[in-house]
Amino acid sequence: MERREFLKASMNFSALALLHLAGFGCKPATPSSAIKLPDLPYDKKALEPYISERTMNFHHCRHHGGYVGKTNIAIAGTPYQGMPLVDIIRRTHGKPDKATIFNNAAQVFNHNFYWNSMKPNGGGKPVGHLYQRLTEAFGSYAKFHKAFSDTANTQFGSGWVWLVADDTKLNIVKTSNADTPIARGLEPLLVIDVWEHAYYLDYQNRRADYVKAYLNHLVNWDFAEAKLKDAS
Ligand code: MN
Repeated sequence: MERREFLKASMNFSALALLHLAGFGCKPATPSSAIKLPDLPYDKKALEPYISERTMNFHHCRHHGGYVGKTNIAIAGTPYQGMPLVDIIRRTHGKPDKATIFNNAAQVFNHNFYWNSMKPNGGGKPVGHLYQRLTEAFGSYAKFHKAFSDTANTQFGSGWVWLVADDTKLNIVKTSNADTPIARGLEPLLVIDVWEHAYYLDYQNRRADYVKAYLNHLVNWDFAEAKLKDAS
């Protein structure tokens, strides 16, 4: 069989339709697509000037949507089709032969969590219970800010930096590539995406400026507080 015919045969119509409908181009997923691309929780211009509409378009539609489409293709016809996203992630974690499913499904979860970790006019110190928990864990808000920034700025290559509830106390963890704390039973409260695609159009190589903008102007402490309540 010629290469072109082989590709045509393997990339059949249903796979193409799935790619198109389940995230690519930010087209809404059809009911037959197991995993959906959620809408952004705010307008795509809402985080300007810290994150541009241009970054949002690429990041939400192309990158996040791409992971949604690839997850749907990878799980089609497997026992994972029809499972909740978190179950797919936990059941494929650490299995080399399931790496494609894990990587794409975890990236869908991580991006869902990232959009909710930010809001327009966010940033600064949390209040109430969460402020108390941060102070207990890190000594002060300023020390939390420094520890989170240092971790985000020094994550080598692509990955994510999280504030998590680890049984008794809050903690900062970093994960590489698609890895995610929910695979290890940790409860995430907040996340920042430190893949270059998250900031390169707006900040080029200046990751530290992006991390500072996230903490000072974007972080959604209401979301973190709600997650902390779920965890306790
Ligand atoms: Mn990303």
